[in-house]
Amino acid sequence: MSDRVKYDAVIVGSGPNGLAAAVTLARAGRSVLVLEGKETIGGGMRTLELTLPGYRHDVCSAVHPLGIASPFFRDLPLHEHGLSWIFPELPLAHLLDDRAVALHQSLERTAEGLGQDGKAYRRLFAPFVGDWQALLDEFLGPLGVPRQPLLMARFGRQAIESATRLARRTFDTPAARALFAGLAAHITLPLESPTTAATGLMLGMLAHAIGWPFARGGSQSIATALASYLDSLGGEIKTGAWVHSMRDIPPARAVLFDVTPRQLLDITGDELPSGYRNRLRGYRYGQGVFKIDWALSEPVPWRAAAARRAGTLHIGGTLDEIAAGERAIGDGKLPDPPFILFSQPSLFDRSRVPDNNSAAQTAWAYCHVPRGSTADMTTAIENRIERHAPGFRDCILARHTIDAVEYETYNPNYIGGDINGGMQDWRQLFTRPVARLDPYSTPNPRLFLCSSSTPPGGGVHGMCGYHAARSALRRALR
Ligand SMILES: Cc1cc2nc3c(=O)[nH]c(=O)nc-3n(C[C@H](O)[C@H](O)[C@H](O)COP(=O)(O)OP(=O)(O)OC[C@H]3O[C@@H](n4cnc5c(N)ncnc54)[C@H](O)[C@@H]3O)c2cc1C
Repeated sequence: MSDRVKYDAVIVGSGPNGLAAAVTLARAGRSVLVLEGKETIGGGMRTLELTLPGYRHDVCSAVHPLGIASPFFRDLPLHEHGLSWIFPELPLAHLLDDRAVALHQSLERTAEGLGQDGKAYRRLFAPFVGDWQALLDEFLGPLGVPRQPLLMARFGRQAIESATRLARRTFDTPAARALFAGLAAHITLPLESPTTAATGLMLGMLAHAIGWPFARGGSQSIATALASYLDSLGGEIKTGAWVHSMRDIPPARAVLFDVTPRQLLDITGDELPSGYRNRLRGYRYGQGVFKIDWALSEPVPWRAAAARRAGTLHIGGTLDEIAAGERAIGDGKLPDPPFILFSQPSLFDRSRVPDNNSAAQTAWAYCHVPRGSTADMTTAIENRIERHAPGFRDCILARHTIDAVEYETYNPNYIGGDINGGMQDWRQLFTRPVARLDPYSTPNPRLFLCSSSTPPGGGVHGMCGYHAARSALRRALR
């Protein structure tokens, strides 16, 4: 076969992990081809005019603490390829009925705003914020013996807890408890589950250490910068190239799949041994999401001043309310009311709206729903926003909605609307897709998995792709 081989590696899928794998291999001098099924690249990083001409919306990811902090992205000259980050004045505001809790990038200012819980908040986050880079390198680095065992032990002692337990034993006030619950709820699991505190700690730490930026021009700019850098290294990308079976892949020494286990099973057929296939069949997917994008005639008229200055808002009420909603989803029910993750990028990045309209805005919001739900959450989401921003509905020029099932149609990696490539509970966080010393490799020495269905899981950070490429370089591409 070797004289037919044109590429060292073919990568199936151009999400952040597929592109990260391709860049890593091209930097190591290997020839690479990325096959993307859709007509445009980017996976969860696309930005499109979903509503009206000139209004540019992030179809999936929008807020990038993991992107800016990613040890892999940090090592690439992406700014030379057009990527710049925009930092909102406040990374986050959490809305309660009677007030907004402001999460400033400054840990001190945030703690001051939390009154009697300020000291506890400072004590919780300060050690991690001070050492954020080492901690993140541990989490996003290769699996193995911790390089910073004491720091990891300190983090791990708290991270292993459920978010509800950590919030209740650390804080006394509803405001601090709710703030932590909102951070932790990004994991899309019942907040009583072990290790859900880890997400709250990680996202809070990153907000204070580095911020929660947007990519100027939309998340598509991250994909475009990665592709431009790949091009400068000689890598190739082909779009409109769905891979249904191994026959769709040109001969290559290695194939890396930016897909989830279910698609890997379909595509590879009996190229993988039956024992491994059976284990892949046991892979568990997480819950889904329902999302709305709006074109707005003016900024959202939030009652709370902090909400008007924040890039991201958590609209979910108290710890108990958020926990009840996430628990309901775990039981297959719709959350009532839903916990809403909201972002308003155009307040800080005017490239998202038409030039000739100085008031125009875009806004993005999603909530968790049971996997495979076709429920329309528009009214529930807009009612909740209207309560905090009377007059919001009058600002809506157009909206675009997408339910959990439509998300899977949009991107086959979002099984039933699961945006993390599989459930991220304690049993599956480090054993994705199966428990294996090198989870990126498969029993077939040519085939690798590089998607968020491998550690460290969901998010735009490229680390799954980077580690998978390193695995391929140690094995098939030695
Ligand atoms: C609503 C929403 C909000 C989110 N918010 C954030 C956020 O704010 N911050 C953040 O960090 N993350 C966020 N995420 C998660 C993030 O987008 C994903 O975790 C990330 O994109 C996963 O990257 P990936 O490379 O593993 O896969 P994907 O980004 O899903 O890319 C996979 C690519 O492979 C292609 N593909 C799949 N199958 C095939 C095939 N058979 N043949 C050819 N091509 C194929 C797909 O078309 C897609 O382009 C969000 C996601 C969603 C949906």
